[in-house]
Amino acid sequence: MNPLGFLEDEIKTLKQENRFITPRVLESAQGPVAIVDGKKVINLTSNNYLCLANHPKVKAAAIKATEEFGIGTAAVRTIIGTTSLHVQLEKRLAEFKGTEDSIVIQSGFTSNTAVCQSLMTSPQDVLISDELNHASIIDGGRLAKAKKKVYRHSDMASLKQILEDPEVRSARRKMLVTDGVFSMDGDIANLPEIVKLCKEHDVITMVDDAHASGVLGPQGRGTTAYYGLKGQVDIQIGTLSKAFATIGGYAAGSFNLKQYLQSVARPFLFSSSHPPAVIASCLAGLDVIYGEPERIQKLWDNTKFFKEELKKAGFDTGNSQTPITPVMVGDSKKAQILSDMLFEEGVFALSIVFPTVPLGKERLRTIVTAGHEIKDLEIAAAAFKKCGKKLGII
Ligand code: PMP
Repeated sequence: MNPLGFLEDEIKTLKQENRFITPRVLESAQGPVAIVDGKKVINLTSNNYLCLANHPKVKAAAIKATEEFGIGTAAVRTIIGTTSLHVQLEKRLAEFKGTEDSIVIQSGFTSNTAVCQSLMTSPQDVLISDELNHASIIDGGRLAKAKKKVYRHSDMASLKQILEDPEVRSARRKMLVTDGVFSMDGDIANLPEIVKLCKEHDVITMVDDAHASGVLGPQGRGTTAYYGLKGQVDIQIGTLSKAFATIGGYAAGSFNLKQYLQSVARPFLFSSSHPPAVIASCLAGLDVIYGEPERIQKLWDNTKFFKEELKKAGFDTGNSQTPITPVMVGDSKKAQILSDMLFEEGVFALSIVFPTVPLGKERLRTIVTAGHEIKDLEIAAAAFKKCGKKLGII
């Protein structure tokens, strides 16, 4: 008997529920127009917000670091995996985020799990989370020993109710975690109110700025800077895999936070460090973010244009305030068909279904970048209109 025989049934179920995924294959550089599965498409799927993935200065920095340091360190950070480039990047990310220090961790995902697990260590602790937070925050909560309390999405009355719960009031440590920009909806957390409530109730604040870093606020410094809350958010998580277009994550906050995490955070201690080329790319990426502010401007101009085109066509684009614009479909099969039809028209926009979004909230998620031309976005919007009409979505 095959002990893995049950996988066949599991796969059948995934297919029946339209949740079976076969990744499409990128056959060119990651760009606003790319070759995917042998077809040239307008790419509305990547998080390459500022088009750094293929920027000549960033690529040159990666090559130089490889020549100088080699391809990897073959070690975890705490053994001999911390290069002078890692040290520089942590200082510069702290400056970017307006904090005392920062610690670079393997990914955005593990940055969230590392912080939740390292700070929330007892059943007497409480971790408070927005219901639409990213999967890595949910998994961070699973690894943490704390009790979990989930408030309705961006609902401050629901949050207040939790903060006033006697069990929460009497907790040993309390920490609230929220996405800065919600990854499937593109709306921005109500940080001013969250910070105010957390201060009143002695709660640590942690913001996952994966989709805000390099995108939102002055010089793309993120949600905290966008709201003018410098120094008022305890922990800012960032990822290096979206606007920075490489891989990695970080936690920015106090000097003590960094010191503590680098001694106890399990991904940091037990998983090897980034290749020098990755770290050098991020350093060069920061130079580009500061030195070419027109990229952020173009990103927002494109965002405004594309959102308006979709709205004009009659699509429900939810409450997005950022370059992530959902196109609501409300049915997993239809969402998949729409994505396939668009691909045939030369437009790549991915369908997002349960469990990534709740049942009935299936959608296509579109992300524009600084590199899209208005012409690309006009063609994409026209294709959406044509296919959306055929499917009866608009
Ligand atoms: N947080 C959010 C809000 C995200 O969207 C993502 C990426 N899917 C992550 C964390 C994880 O980041 P990374 O890809 O660097 O692991």
